[in-house]
Amino acid sequence: MDKNHIIIFDTTLRDGEQSPGASMNTEEKIQIALQLERLGVDVIESGFAAASAGDFDAINQIAKQVDNICVASLARALERDIKAAGEAIMPAKNKRIHTFIATSPIHMEHKLKMKSDEVIKKAVEAVKYARTFVDDVEFSCEDAGRSDVEFLKEICDAVVSAGASTINLPDTVGFRLPSELYERMKAMVDFLGDRAILSAHNHNDLGLAVANTLECIKAGARQVECTINGLGERAGNAALEEIVMAIKTRQDALGPLYTNIISKEIYATSRLVASITGIEPQPNKAIVGKNAFAHESGIHQDGVLKCAQTYEIISAEDIGASKTNLVLGKHSGRHAFKDRLITLGFDLSEDELNSAFSEFKALCDKKKEIFDEDLRALVSEEITKIPEIYSIITLSSSACNNGHTSAAISIRKMLENGEEIILSDAALGHGTIDAIFKAIDRISNSAGELKDYKVAAISKGKDALAKVDVKVKFGQQTVIGHGLDIDTMLASAKAYIAALNSYLSMKV
Ligand SMILES: [Zn+2]
Repeated sequence: MDKNHIIIFDTTLRDGEQSPGASMNTEEKIQIALQLERLGVDVIESGFAAASAGDFDAINQIAKQVDNICVASLARALERDIKAAGEAIMPAKNKRIHTFIATSPIHMEHKLKMKSDEVIKKAVEAVKYARTFVDDVEFSCEDAGRSDVEFLKEICDAVVSAGASTINLPDTVGFRLPSELYERMKAMVDFLGDRAILSAHNHNDLGLAVANTLECIKAGARQVECTINGLGERAGNAALEEIVMAIKTRQDALGPLYTNIISKEIYATSRLVASITGIEPQPNKAIVGKNAFAHESGIHQDGVLKCAQTYEIISAEDIGASKTNLVLGKHSGRHAFKDRLITLGFDLSEDELNSAFSEFKALCDKKKEIFDEDLRALVSEEITKIPEIYSIITLSSSACNNGHTSAAISIRKMLENGEEIILSDAALGHGTIDAIFKAIDRISNSAGELKDYKVAAISKGKDALAKVDVKVKFGQQTVIGHGLDIDTMLASAKAYIAALNSYLSMKV
């Protein structure tokens, strides 16, 4: 164990997934996992295997497809959870079970309704059982931030003796200040010494998640748990990109610490996660926000042109956000297309490349200039595509300011035996979007409840590609769908159908 190595534990697919309030489908999770591997993450928390059959399957698929990354699944300190976690991660070369139980007085009394000695007993049993599946077991004291430090020592001593090698002390509710967390982490590092790796897991309720994580590192924590773009429940988790770039930029203050992150992959990872979850980082977000490297004021622009370091402590190139926004168009060949995708961080199979290239050509017919952002959106759609049960053929809609709005739609349905049928119907609605979604519901015999609808222009110009993100509840499940088109109405229809397909793919 190298004392200067900070282990990056990414929980975008677990803690992060709890933020959209909607589930990603398996294909989307795999694409994020593969990108996290390219980014150089050490451990990826790929989900909560016992949560549902869909979660189990996604973890299992990820375990099969990644090579150099440790795959973890979360599990409560329950036999059923640990068994599911152990089985889901089984195919991975490096695997970890992450089990936890709450240790704060408020959680033990009201949630668990257990006395502290029972909690220790359960934790020890859980770790021992997890060790029957894997050698690498992490134990978390949920709500450690509000737990009694003497009790933390007692329970951690017991679980380490039982076989846990990483001890995570989360500030689950984002309550602590940096100086307090330093003291608490330091006490635990001094107490456990070399017996276990201490891990930090901080939430951003007071905007302190990254600051708190850096204090934990100073106190001796050697694993940090974080998410891309700071995704996560409520105000989110500590942002991976901010922690990594702080360590890299401030070695003078933090010491010769390092991570295995390839910082040039940060921007591509951020874009992929934003496009899949439909959650854009705020424009002024550190490191990956749209304005993170934009210099508006004349004095700043002048300074940066003379010497970049006058106003830039890191450069856009450091995180792979190249400033050259090369424009492709109708006459760009396959080679230029492929080259550009590699620069943008995409590594496509021959099949994916072929299909992305024909999408690109189709787009060139409608739009003169294709920007990097268009390419990212196009290719992200391509690589996360799942088998489409429904796909749109034609859409016509009429909108007027006085009278009825209607939409007529034809949809192709792929039957289980591989045959295709064409279904058509029309509906009236309160506005065009309502009419379109109602028509799709009629055709597919479903009743989606629209929870969220967002439309954004991908690049610049009046003819920009529209990206529509929808969150739709079908039955008990809320799913995300994306649609991309020059035409906003068509993009909306595609997004709604994508959500429907995603729901149907999870139902199996
Ligand atoms: Zn958390």
